[in-house]
Amino acid sequence: MPRDDEPRTAREEGPRAGRRVHVDPALCIGSGICLATAPRHFQAGEDHRSRARPDAPAADESAEDATALCPVEAIGLIAGPPVPGIPPPDL
Ligand code: SF4
Repeated sequence: MPRDDEPRTAREEGPRAGRRVHVDPALCIGSGICLATAPRHFQAGEDHRSRARPDAPAADESAEDATALCPVEAIGLIAGPPVPGIPPPDL
């Protein structure tokens, strides 16, 4: 069930429809910038590196901001649900 502030349809999501954040664990240095910028999309692992939240909503402006702000370009926006720990082929 979407929250009130989440888009409910692909039309409302626009070009972000179906995309989720993904963190490449081999690149993440644990700066925490994405956690502060988009806490609905990221969570910290035991190694202090960021991961996509399993319950992350579709990418929104905060996810795009976090992607742009990551100092090591470890974040990508990919189609489908988050897959923790597995780099997508298109990053
Ligand atoms: S901003 Fe980038 S380097 Fe920093 S915790 Fe997030 S994914 Fe890792």
